[in-house]
Amino acid sequence: MSITTPTSASLAQHRNLVTEIPGPRSAEKLARKQKYVADGVGTTLPVFIEAAGGGILLDADGNSLIDLGSGIAVTTVGNAAPEVVRRVQEQVAAFTHTCFMVTPYDGYVDVCEALAELTPGAHAKKSALFNSGAEAVENAVKIARVATGRDAVAVFDHAYHGRTNLTMAMTAKNMPYKNGFGPFAGEVYRLPMSYPFRETAGIKGEDAAARAIDQLEKQVGADNLACVVIEPILGEGGFVVPAEGFLPALAAWCRDHDVVFVADEIQSGFCRTGEWFACDHEGVVPDLITTAKGIAGGLPLAAVTGRAELMDAVHVGGLGGTYGGNPVACAAALGAIEEMRSHDLRARARAVESLIRRRLDTIAADHPVIADIRGRGAMMAIELCKPGTLEPDAARAAAVAAYCHKNGVVVLTCGTWGNVFRFLPPLSIPDDLLEEAFDVVAEAFAATA
Ligand SMILES: *Cc1c(COP(=O)(O)O)cnc(C)c1O
Repeated sequence: MSITTPTSASLAQHRNLVTEIPGPRSAEKLARKQKYVADGVGTTLPVFIEAAGGGILLDADGNSLIDLGSGIAVTTVGNAAPEVVRRVQEQVAAFTHTCFMVTPYDGYVDVCEALAELTPGAHAKKSALFNSGAEAVENAVKIARVATGRDAVAVFDHAYHGRTNLTMAMTAKNMPYKNGFGPFAGEVYRLPMSYPFRETAGIKGEDAAARAIDQLEKQVGADNLACVVIEPILGEGGFVVPAEGFLPALAAWCRDHDVVFVADEIQSGFCRTGEWFACDHEGVVPDLITTAKGIAGGLPLAAVTGRAELMDAVHVGGLGGTYGGNPVACAAALGAIEEMRSHDLRARARAVESLIRRRLDTIAADHPVIADIRGRGAMMAIELCKPGTLEPDAARAAAVAAYCHKNGVVVLTCGTWGNVFRFLPPLSIPDDLLEEAFDVVAEAFAATA
């Protein structure tokens, strides 16, 4: 069978629907999923994938769908990207696991070296590797607590930091992430975010930061605060780009009060926004940065990277995990980083942004339900509201998404009210395929008007 399975390299870069979506073979497979996979594990679009690459997902019925999701911002370099495949194949044939805490290997150290080079700031940096984003966030908090001797953690409205117990407490949205799963970890405090679209026009980033800082000082106290954790562009919370000046003001306050400033760049990192990291757009240098998703071309890997003296505050043996920095995942990360460098994917993300903005501006001119267009690079979003109001229109978002899915374009929604579309194409997608995807998005708005 493996001989007939198409590889990503051989996939034609065209949308092509040969059955309805989902087709009969996917429908059969979905019935098996329903029998054996827990219902709590949902799927956005139940087409079963057999190959993927460029900007295409090929399903079990032979349909070629356009991918505007990258498996939630993971396959930034493309699915089965050549350097990822080559290095993974080499590594998997050499050895699959030793546990870095038992006997180390180069790949782990190479990834940490690359992280020290690529993440913001010229100071001495060290890293620790983990399996998932949530695990990285948990470990950033552990490091900040040991380094400061303080307990409290500040997070923001609309934040998403994961699904483990501590990160559920740090995540804002109840359904589906938290509902019924408490009690949650303590000493987590939530602050008002800068959300330009939903605020008095013209409120400056510095003023939004002052509002959050005032709340921190009155309700928590800097002396009790280990860290402030923030996504420099909100991910699940709706791709909100805070007002200019907000992040630098928060980082400066943290510096003045010996509070660890943690940037959660799990979704926004690794070329996604047109820079290596979203912090780079305003020259913000976090003390600790968490990364995952785009880091390894689809293999599970996550990291905490930060100031060497903070990272080294933890006692030997205090950081780790059986699989953290698995050699195959590290090989994938080194391959993904090479793809980013050799194809200048930062520049590619900026080009994708201008294409998407041009298309969204045109669509929005005809459809006033599109109340806001925002984002950076290949991390773009539109927020849907009842025209002329701030009232979220999640029903319209669901209808537009359903139309796109039926017509072979994989789109994702997000946002606290479920009324935001996020566009996260792989950076390997050709321009004409991206144009075609937005033809379908335009049709979807027209058909659901
Ligand atoms: C996805 C995400 C996480 C959690 O990552 P997992 O790998 O799913 O645990 C944390 N923070 C942000 C900003 C994310 O987008």
